[in-house]
Amino acid sequence: MSYILPMHMPFVSRCVVALAVGTLVALQSIGHTAAAQSASASAVPSTERSIVRSVDSHNSDALALLVRLVDINSGTTNHAGVRHVADILRAQFDSLGFATKWVDGAAFHRAGHLVAEHPGPGPKILIIGHLDTVFDLSSPFQKFERLDDSTARGPGVIDMKGGDVIALYALRALEDAGALDSMHVVVVYDGDEEDAGAPLSAARQTLIDAARGARAALGFEDGAGDPRTAVVSRRGDISWTLTTTGRTAHSSQIFTKEYGAGAVYEAARVLDAFYKQLSTQRYLTFNPGVVVGGTAVSLDSTQTSGTAAGKTNVVSDTAVVAGDLRTLSPAQLAAAQRSMLAIVRQHLPMTTAHLVFADGYPPMAPTAGNKKLLAMYDRASRDLGFGPVVAVDPSRAGAADVSFVANEVPMAIDALGLSGHDDHSPQETADLRMLPVQTKRAAVLMYRLTVEGGTHPVTP
Ligand SMILES: [Zn+2]
Repeated sequence: MSYILPMHMPFVSRCVVALAVGTLVALQSIGHTAAAQSASASAVPSTERSIVRSVDSHNSDALALLVRLVDINSGTTNHAGVRHVADILRAQFDSLGFATKWVDGAAFHRAGHLVAEHPGPGPKILIIGHLDTVFDLSSPFQKFERLDDSTARGPGVIDMKGGDVIALYALRALEDAGALDSMHVVVVYDGDEEDAGAPLSAARQTLIDAARGARAALGFEDGAGDPRTAVVSRRGDISWTLTTTGRTAHSSQIFTKEYGAGAVYEAARVLDAFYKQLSTQRYLTFNPGVVVGGTAVSLDSTQTSGTAAGKTNVVSDTAVVAGDLRTLSPAQLAAAQRSMLAIVRQHLPMTTAHLVFADGYPPMAPTAGNKKLLAMYDRASRDLGFGPVVAVDPSRAGAADVSFVANEVPMAIDALGLSGHDDHSPQETADLRMLPVQTKRAAVLMYRLTVEGGTHPVTP
């Protein structure tokens, strides 16, 4: 999903921020590097050379599959479309010898999830993708459109049907190279990443279960639009609701011992204290997005619209504020919640305040394990002749499905998918030159994770 976040429901994830400026320059430089890649391929072992050859020989098939998938509408609420995309991918995983299943999503009001498992003696690797897009059936943006030799526009082309195809063809290359037999790979492609089902715990149970015992989790989101970067940390994103009450009275009685300050002043006190005490902490943000206050207020369940009635000569009796809270680590989240609750407990005269936190995306902290996995990916990229890969600043990375497993696995990385720009907009554009590049990098990373168990970066 996108960094420059459109208006979203609290649980709507944010895969990616697409930074269009400068991106194409980066892509072009890697594209040229790709042309010189055969020279550097001799630096990699024979299995990895086989992987590279397979990716090249299947690139037109991969692109054809991407076109086919993009042309199927799979907006999150179009359950039939999500299922159609899943069925096509499922047949592909079946052909690679995976045991596949469809997990129905009725319990969380979404289409469901595709799960594919290849049992093998190697360490378990979790691959994360999603089948849905933000473009529903009513969107005018429905089809793959080739813009020139190297770019194409389409709904979900980078977010993230491109990544789904990259993961699939990386596994196909591993099969072709004779490496897949020894690998234990579990693929989970969620059907509701862009607008997660509810309850959220049910909607993400399959993914979290799949992560148990995994050595590493690899997310194939499109990343920050720059193939020289990957994501090792995403801020978590949860929502909160503050409700304050006061004693209503004629306004002439406000500030008296009997009637106190009123609900609106209490809400203002809390928000002001949040800002003064917490707003300078790095990577911590909290945004009161909507406020209603007065003598009769309502806020709808999506916390996107409400009503307020009151009079200037009446002390307010209720105020409701809805906001979000983004944090880098579980520790930062817990500390922020403690501080916010402590602020809420100090009331102005004759008022009450109550703060409730809702479920949301947990933080993916920049752990040593995640950095080690990035180092392996960086090494694979360099060995393949594609140059270094560095971490994206987490302030530019929104929440995504990988966040749900970040605390379940010793190593996680995201943004291994197809590069481009402007995801979540009708200008969503892929750099097709990155399709084989990203596929090769991912396949070599998976191979090295299996061979080396992820214990240390490999020197071929
Ligand atoms: Zn996405």
